[in-house]
Amino acid sequence: ATRLGSGMGRAPGGDGSSSGATAVLRHLARKLRATGAVTVAEYMREALTNPGQGYYTRRGGVGESGDFITSPEISQVFGELIGIWYISEWIAMGKPKAFQLVELGPGRGTLADDILQVFKQLSSLLSKCDVSVHLVEVSPKLSEIQALMLTGGKVQSNPEDSSAYMEGISKTGIPIFWYRDVQDVPPGYSFYLAHEFFDALPIHKFQRTERGWREVLVDIDPEVPDQLRFVLSPSSTPATENFIQPEERRDHVEVCPEAGVIIQRLACRIEKDGGAALIADYGHDGTKTDTFRGFRDHRLHDVLKAPGTADLTADVDFSYLRKMAQGRTATLGPIKQREFLKNMGIDLRMQVLLQNSRDTATHEQLLHSYDMLMNPEKMGDCFNFFALLPHHRLEHPDKKQKPESKSPIPPVAGFGELLLK
Ligand code: SAH
Repeated sequence: ATRLGSGMGRAPGGDGSSSGATAVLRHLARKLRATGAVTVAEYMREALTNPGQGYYTRRGGVGESGDFITSPEISQVFGELIGIWYISEWIAMGKPKAFQLVELGPGRGTLADDILQVFKQLSSLLSKCDVSVHLVEVSPKLSEIQALMLTGGKVQSNPEDSSAYMEGISKTGIPIFWYRDVQDVPPGYSFYLAHEFFDALPIHKFQRTERGWREVLVDIDPEVPDQLRFVLSPSSTPATENFIQPEERRDHVEVCPEAGVIIQRLACRIEKDGGAALIADYGHDGTKTDTFRGFRDHRLHDVLKAPGTADLTADVDFSYLRKMAQGRTATLGPIKQREFLKNMGIDLRMQVLLQNSRDTATHEQLLHSYDMLMNPEKMGDCFNFFALLPHHRLEHPDKKQKPESKSPIPPVAGFGELLLK
């Protein structure tokens, strides 16, 4: 996840690990001494999702009192509009009899909860549709929080009849399943959602030198005990050979192969079984160079200090995601968050909420959250929306032959004009 350091939240401190060696650091130091420097990707994976001591595995600091705050945590309107996006796509695709909502990295479960509220409000529309929710979450700690938020805590672990590690029924009556990997989610018509998920996946970093591309590695400083440092690989690595394009013009490049693998999977599944994916994150379209950073207590944090106690993140390269879809699906975006939400009707929704709120405190809170989501200096410009859709959703297969014989294709909400009002 990625977030702004806006000075909200608690004072720094807590486990006092910014100076002493953390469990992740001790583990890494042993490894580095034994086998030499590791890639930034390996470092990031250890720091974030190491099964015992990783940042997400153990802490998972989403929320106002954690290390970062995300859009769904700021306003319910965010999740409501995303819920409407899925309903709008479901209608545009001819109201299939069943769909799975598959969310990658659901954090505290707030976004899924707001979406399920929308599904409940539109239950007459969805009454003949078999809806289920599938959450992909590696963190046992966060899956517990999600279970509490979505089901009130009534869940069953390791159900025998399913590939899920946990299952339950939402407060709104919809079955929910938890998995560690998207590959474990059963096939079927699916709407995928990833909000601030891709930016938490491990990246490789590369630097152009006079002798060619070198990979940035993490090593232990021989002079200072328990201190990590960046070094350059002495020669090219398998990653430099595989991930740098011959036409690359930047001097510093970050690549997230795991994001590529996941996009390929989603694209294959959407091509085969139908559905769509909506991805929202910090990001750029293949132009930025050095975006790897850490957050702790809503402040920037040295990425090499006290691994496991801070959130590490890198901007998502949407041009890479588009390439990894490899034409299996069409792609839309990236489009800025403020444009997407505007197209989805956030102004109208805000007006209704403002009219319905009596006290000034709620009024102010609504205006403040609108500003956080929409202001170009806050989250409005740096967050982007990106979608994968089946080709037929955007184009009639026989368009060239007889364009006038078919009914027009409805525009995709958010990326164009809104279908449901
Ligand atoms: N979507 C939420 C939370 C973002 S934080 C929000 O916007 O508020 C990132 C989430 O991804 C966390 O739930 C984290 O535990 C999860 N996560 C990180 N790496 C993961 C991985 N490799 N596989 C599955 N989930 C992962």
